[in-house]
Amino acid sequence: MQATLENLKHYFGYDSFRLTQQEAIQNLLNKKDALVIMPTGGGKSLCFQLPALQFSGLTLVISPLIALMKDQVDGLKANGISAEFFNSSQNFETQQEILEKISRKEIKLLYTAPESLSGLQDVLKSNYISCVAVDEAHCISSWGHDFRPSYKQLGFLKKSMPDVPIIALTATADKATRVDILNQLSIPKAKVFISSFNRENIFLNVKMANKRLQQIEKFLDRRPDEAGIVYCLSRKSTEKLAQDLEALGYQAEAYHAGLDHETRSEIQENFIYDKTQIVCATVAFGMGIDKSNVRWVIHYNMPKNIESYYQEIGRAGRDGLASQALMFHSYADVIQYRNFIDNSGNQEVQYAKLDRMKQFAEAKSCRRKILLAYFGEYLEEDCGHCDICLNPPQFMDGKINAQKTISAVARVQQNEPIGVIIDILRGAKNQKILDRNYDQLKTYGAGKDVAWRDWQHYVLEMINQGVLDIAFHDGNKLKLNSLSKKVLFEDYQVSLTKPIDPKVEKREMITK
Ligand code: ADP
Ligand code: ZN
Repeated sequence: MQATLENLKHYFGYDSFRLTQQEAIQNLLNKKDALVIMPTGGGKSLCFQLPALQFSGLTLVISPLIALMKDQVDGLKANGISAEFFNSSQNFETQQEILEKISRKEIKLLYTAPESLSGLQDVLKSNYISCVAVDEAHCISSWGHDFRPSYKQLGFLKKSMPDVPIIALTATADKATRVDILNQLSIPKAKVFISSFNRENIFLNVKMANKRLQQIEKFLDRRPDEAGIVYCLSRKSTEKLAQDLEALGYQAEAYHAGLDHETRSEIQENFIYDKTQIVCATVAFGMGIDKSNVRWVIHYNMPKNIESYYQEIGRAGRDGLASQALMFHSYADVIQYRNFIDNSGNQEVQYAKLDRMKQFAEAKSCRRKILLAYFGEYLEEDCGHCDICLNPPQFMDGKINAQKTISAVARVQQNEPIGVIIDILRGAKNQKILDRNYDQLKTYGAGKDVAWRDWQHYVLEMINQGVLDIAFHDGNKLKLNSLSKKVLFEDYQVSLTKPIDPKVEKREMITK
């Protein structure tokens, strides 16, 4: 191991290993296969870069991220390591030069994409390969969250080079995905190295998507100079939000795949070098961005699965300092994802993942426990550092409130959205109510002792619990279902949580 430590210092400038790096490296030097699961920023690359220096031959690195290969290779070269990449961004002459360099055995690390392997046939047959690293290995699995068909073919590597160790690496893979990765790569006996997924310095906070701009304004008020990312679902909302934040006096830029390459690089640079405080982005933003002082990440929309959520909040607080992850969620998001999924492949898995995400968003127990459990890690105690731990929900008998709501929905023939139902319950005297004679209904004013905001909280919870339905394709009208009838006519119990007092909620926003 001594040589390895010296190399760590000499080539990378570090004094010690992190997480499972040392064990994974030793395993690889013993020519054994491995799957390394380490959170983003954990230091996965070192697990194959360092052994590559000690192997006599070439380490072949397979990655789906062509756009990042040049940076990675430049970084290695700057450290005095002979590395190159081979991919479709290069012209024929450049590719030939690389191949010649390989045949002269001048290269230790070669980065390539699965699509480009066909151009490397001679290298693959040459006995010159000492190790294969499969980066972003979750891409091989249709159980994973970012399946790439081109990864499917990688099983041939082990079959054609049985003595060459394979190291697969990923930041996000649930249990099913892990097993699948090993099978697909034909390394079923590979040793699996898992580092803790717990990012203790990130405060987890989840809110309903009500008046999001207002909530974000309140959030930013307390951290006016801190850098952060707001993830949005659509390009349009990145632009709208960036404008809104500018209008509030913040420096914000929109980033999405519709912008040209130059503009995108510029926005990234400005963010990395602290010239832009806030980037409102689609998920296209962040891959490979190594900025340590991102203090917060806001999800304007709920991510489509927990892997994405984890990866995106992981861009905050890489320096280990206190950081915030604030996520908004709504039914509209869920419906939109369902539409996406309906129009894509692999539906069953995607639905299951969306469901888990939704459960996380609606959870009434420690969020970190749920998050870690998803990745197979068990947290013994509640974390004390999430919104639920800080303001534990207080449950109450919600039957009367549920009955009043359901009865109001029935009396308007299931023809009105939440707002109107709440107005009826509260006995509001606005034009719509009067025009439709809703003030004549038996439930009119039946809930005037409860604040509007609290009614909204209750009704949304009832929808969460399946006691009421909401028709997104029909003007968000509230609808009855079989459970609604049980609540109204049978002794079906409804437990709701008490709304959080805005004054108490403030405490949570101050806590860092
Ligand atoms: P990942 O691929 O897991 O997201 P990287 O391999 O890009 O992470 O490493 C993240 C950062 O951590 C890099 O800047 C890397 O140089 C640094 N790093 C890796 N290993 C160590 C170590 N043992 N000590 C200090 N820094 C390290
Ligand atoms: Zn907690």
